[in-house]
Amino acid sequence: MVTARRVAEILEGYEDIVIATACSHSSLQIFHGAKAEGFKTLGIAIGERPRVYDAFPAARPDSFLVVDSYQDLARNASELTEVNAVTIPHGSFVEYMGADAFLDLEVPTFGNRRVIEWEADREKQRTWLAAAGVEMPAKIERPEDIDRPVFVKYHGAKGGRGSFIAKNYDEFLEHVDKGQPYAIQEYVIGTRYYIHYFYSPIGEEGYNLSKGTLELLGFDRRDESNIDEMYKLGAQESLKRLGIYPTFIVTGNVPTVLRESLLPTTLQMGEKVVEKSLELFGGMIGPFCLETIVTDQLRFKVFEVSSRIVAGTNLYISGSPYSDLLEPGMSTGRRIAREIRDARKVGRLLDVLT
Ligand code: AMP
Repeated sequence: MVTARRVAEILEGYEDIVIATACSHSSLQIFHGAKAEGFKTLGIAIGERPRVYDAFPAARPDSFLVVDSYQDLARNASELTEVNAVTIPHGSFVEYMGADAFLDLEVPTFGNRRVIEWEADREKQRTWLAAAGVEMPAKIERPEDIDRPVFVKYHGAKGGRGSFIAKNYDEFLEHVDKGQPYAIQEYVIGTRYYIHYFYSPIGEEGYNLSKGTLELLGFDRRDESNIDEMYKLGAQESLKRLGIYPTFIVTGNVPTVLRESLLPTTLQMGEKVVEKSLELFGGMIGPFCLETIVTDQLRFKVFEVSSRIVAGTNLYISGSPYSDLLEPGMSTGRRIAREIRDARKVGRLLDVLT
C-alpha cells in the first residue's frame, strides 16, 4: 500500500488540487460538488471520452484522462500526479481497478485506503460491525443448520448478483454454487434503509465523536430487479415452478426519510461503527453507508457497510431533507470537496488523504 510518507511527498509538489474520479457511479455528483467548491476536475475514462457529460454540462469534468484499461491507469499514476490530482474512490472505481491495484495507486486518494481490507472480506466486516455493537442478521455457520428463511450471498458479490433466498436446507442445496465461497444469514423481514453518513476527522462542531464529527446526509432505498416487481406475475413459489427466480440486481434508487424517532439510533449506530474503525485501522474517513433493515420491532439490522460514497446519494445533488439542515444544497460529492478544501486550509490534508 502507498505509504503516508509517499503521499506527503507527492502533495508537497502540488499547487492547485484537481479532483479526479472514474467516469461512472456517482461521478456527476462528485464533479458537480467539486466545481461548487472551486476545484478543477478530471474524469478518468476507459477507451474513449464519454459523451454522457455533454448532456449534463454542470457536471462535466474540465478535462479527461483516457486510458485503455484500469490496469493501465495503475501503471500510469504519474499522469494523474503531474496534474495535481486527488482521486475520489467510489464503488465502481475500486471494483474495476481491483482492490490491490487501488491500494498501490500512487496518487493521493480521499479516505483511508486501509478500510478496504476490513470491508472486502465479509468475515472481517462482520468482526468490525459486531465489535462496534450494531445488530446484524444472525449468521448461520453450517447449511445443515438452516432452521428459518435465509439469505445466501457469495463473497465479493456486488449489487446483489448471485444472492438467493432459501427457506430450508433443501432449497439451499437446490440453488447453491458450492464452487464459490458463500455466507448464510437469517432472512430479515422488514423495511430497507441505506443510511448516508459523513465522518470528518477534522470537524470540530456538531455531532462530536471522540475525534471529529459525524454527519447524517440522507437515506435511500434501492430498486432491485427483478424482486421488486415479480409479484405482479404471481407468488414467488408458483413462479419457481416456471423456472423464474428472484434476483437482487440494483437498477436505481428511491428517496426516503426515516421515522424521526429512529434518528437518535441512526446516529448512534454510525458513531459506533466509526469509533470502532478508529480503533481497528485508523478510521473510516468521509462518506460511508450502513445498509439496514428495520424490523416491525423497530430494530435495525445492519447487513453491510460501504465505506465510500454510495450511488444512493445521487438522489441529493441539490441537498436532502437532512443535509439541508447542515447547509442547504450540500450533496455528498460536494461535502467531500469541502472536506479537502477545509483540510488544506488548516494544513491537515494528510488527515483526510492516504
Ligand atoms: P447485498 O448483496 O448484501 O448488498 O444485498 C443485496 C440485497 O439483498 C439487499 O439490498 C437486500 O434487499 C437483500 N438482503 C441482503 N441481506 C439480507 C438479509 N439478511 N435479509 C433480507 N434481505 C437481505
